[in-house]
Parts: sequence; C-alpha cells; structure tokens
Amino acid sequence: MTGGETLRLGILGGTFDPPHYGHLALAETARVQLGLARVLFVPAGDPPHKPGRPLSPAVHRAAMVEAAIADNLAFRLSRVDLDRPGPHYTVDMLALLREMYIGAEFYLLMGSDSLAEFLTWRDPAGIARQVFLAVMERPGWTADVASLEREIPGIRERLIWLDAPRLDISASDLRQRVQVGLPIRYLVPPAVEAYIHDHHLYQGASSSQK
Ligand code: ATP
Repeated sequence: MTGGETLRLGILGGTFDPPHYGHLALAETARVQLGLARVLFVPAGDPPHKPGRPLSPAVHRAAMVEAAIADNLAFRLSRVDLDRPGPHYTVDMLALLREMYIGAEFYLLMGSDSLAEFLTWRDPAGIARQVFLAVMERPGWTADVASLEREIPGIRERLIWLDAPRLDISASDLRQRVQVGLPIRYLVPPAVEAYIHDHHLYQGASSSQK
C-alpha cells in the first residue's frame, strides 16, 4: 500500500472442512475484481450456522487452509476465530478485524448460498454496515435481494456480484466422496488432497472426529 491509499481487505469465513477450489476461485476472483491487497481466510471454531454436524478439529481445518493458500502471496490464514472461545459470530469477527486493521475497507466474500441465508445470521444489518458483501453465484442458490433490501434498507448498495463461473463444489460433497472412495483430485489443491489422505479424514461415519 502506498501513502494515502485505503487497504482493501477481503474476508472469507467458513468451516473449510475441507477447503476447495470453490473457496479459492471466490477469493481470487474477488482479489482481482476488487483490487484487494489481501484475502484473510477465517476458519470458524464453533460455527453457529452449522449445529449438529461434527466438524473436523480446527487444527486440521487450519492446516488444510494453510496448504490450500500457500502459493498465493495475497492469501492469509486468520486465527481470529480459532484463538477465542465461541460462538463465533461474523459480526463479532468483523469488529475484531476492524480493530486489527484500522482504516481498511472490508469486503466479506461469500457464495450465494450464504447470501440467501444472510437474514438468519446474527445482526445482518450490523454486518452490512461494516463491510461490502462480495458474492459469487453458486449452483442452486439464488438470493432474494428484494426481501434482503426490505429487511435491511440500503443493503443493495453494499452488494457486489463477482464475475466467476458457478462451481458446483462443496465441502459436504467432498467429504461424502472421500467416504465412498470417489476421487477429489482436481476439486481440491493437491496439498489438501494429500493432507486428507495422510490424516485419514472423512473416511468413516465419525472420522471427522479424528
Ligand atoms: P459445506 O458443504 O460443509 O456446507 P462449503 O463448501 O459451503 O461447506 P464453507 O466453508 O461452509 O464451504 O464456505 C465458506 C464460504 O465459501 C461460504 O460463504 C460459501 O458460500 C462459500 N463457498 C463455498 N463453496 C463455494 C463455491 N463452490 N462457490 C462459491 N462460493 C462458495
């Protein structure tokens, strides 16, 4: 950053169980389209939106994110949600990051599934006040922007649509594929595939507890 310019920061929160090319395409498209200096990948510790499903331990999810982003200098792992007790609400995570990066402009990156469920999040209006929402379309998920706008007047101006192809890759499908022995090559970076293999993740009904 040169003098006087505002640091543009992308934030990609998720469970990353495992991280995959959908996440990386979202982050890279946003980086280029929005001129982001950095994209922070923020693995959730105890996600409030996905109760019920056993999550792989944070140590594995963080390690897989680090492996996935190692070759992109603009991508960083943020431990802001890993190193504090949950529940980890996005609105709190953003407030903490805003204290760490004073004066930066924040772009919260998400797929259209997250935008479609945005009103169920803790304090969505509070989130929209703090950041722009940069959204990548995801197959099967169309957000109802009109009802979002009704609930949170002005949110339309905070929405940015990313110009990326829809990628039908999801972590849940990847876990399922590993469990039944289908390949995940070309759907996740090779280092993530190797990590999953080496640590025997997702191989049994309760293997995510390993
Ligand atoms: P799961 O299948 O376990 O729900 P996921 O693949 O949706 O996981 P998350 O870690 O929950 O991955 O996603 C983090 C963020 O990345 C969310 O905002 C989600 O919408 C977005 N995202 C994940 N996969 C894609 C994709 N293929 N295209 C666009 N956005 C995506």
